[in-house]
Amino acid sequence: MRIEAVDFFYLAMPEVTDEADGSQDALLVRVAAGGHTGWGECEAAPLPSIAAFVCPKSHGVCRPVGDSVLGKPLRDPADIGRMSAEVAYNSMDLLQAAHTWSGVETALWDLLGRARGEPVWKMLGYARSHPKTPYASVLFGDTPAETLARARDIRAKDFRAAKFGWGPIGRGTAAQDAEHFIAAREGLGADAILLVDTGQIFIDDVARAAERVPALEQARATWFEEPFAASALAAYGALAQRSRSVKLAGGEGAHNVDMAKHLIDYGGVGYIQIDCGRIGGIGPSKQVADYAIAKGVTFVNHTFTSHLALSASMQPYAGLEDHRICEFPALPKPLALELSQNHLRPDRNGEISAPDAPGLGIEVSPAGVRKYLQEVDIQVNGRTLFSTPKI
Ligand SMILES: [Mg+2]
Repeated sequence: MRIEAVDFFYLAMPEVTDEADGSQDALLVRVAAGGHTGWGECEAAPLPSIAAFVCPKSHGVCRPVGDSVLGKPLRDPADIGRMSAEVAYNSMDLLQAAHTWSGVETALWDLLGRARGEPVWKMLGYARSHPKTPYASVLFGDTPAETLARARDIRAKDFRAAKFGWGPIGRGTAAQDAEHFIAAREGLGADAILLVDTGQIFIDDVARAAERVPALEQARATWFEEPFAASALAAYGALAQRSRSVKLAGGEGAHNVDMAKHLIDYGGVGYIQIDCGRIGGIGPSKQVADYAIAKGVTFVNHTFTSHLALSASMQPYAGLEDHRICEFPALPKPLALELSQNHLRPDRNGEISAPDAPGLGIEVSPAGVRKYLQEVDIQVNGRTLFSTPKI
């Protein structure tokens, strides 16, 4: 079969705020080939990502993503890999291309799996989908008392792992931050997994980040996520030398496989967190998972939006029994839940698994999509390059 159509749907909440919550809008991708349909999601700004698919070429290696996709053969996973290589080369000067391609690539895996009646993780070579321990991802409170209350609330909802992020951390003193770390541990209880995400706040200041390590170790945090800007590899490497029980985590900012490998090799992370809606899709994420195993690093999904994106993010490491921690969007905006008909719910052990169903195993809800749909038209000189398709 050949790729006949690639359609984009831009969804948004009625109001989008400044909070660091990526579920306030979404870009869904629908691909059609050989009478089959597949769905994927870009973890990206919707409008520039649509534009990167349809824009006029600027020159020979600044071409729209569509040039490397439309009309191409889709027989097996190797064809998806070939398209990945073509996009990387033909759009090397189009920086949004990786984000756009990520959603298309994911939709192609979904379509191929549905055509074959196989889950994506099986096409990736895994024999089974192992259960993962979902962690609830929340923001630190404005005060330690608020952080304590949020931690107790998470525990009351039966999560055995939680990640606290952003908020006031890094904006005051190390002693103030320590109170939040201790409050989070107290609220979660002694046996829960505590993860901390500081959202790049220390930029590349190793000394300031290192001041937080003793309190993180005292609170028995499993990881210290994104202390620095995504590419500050020297800072990551220096801090990794100064941490003992708490390991560094990062990788959500990786837009290609090499960026993730460099974070492992030069940044010294113990956990590599990959968002397949950014890195180029499921195939590149699986390459990182393979590399992580070879380097003794634990793979973790990164995802903060819908259950379509959640399922996609789990496929690359579904078969890795020992890589158990899994990001689970605990409190997404309504659009992220309503865009699919089914959801990945914890089983009686409180664990979730990538579905044992064709493709990604998630059914998109046309009514949910329509409810939040933003009508888009992109024109140049009166010629329409993109117009929101029918759903
Ligand atoms: Mg993060």
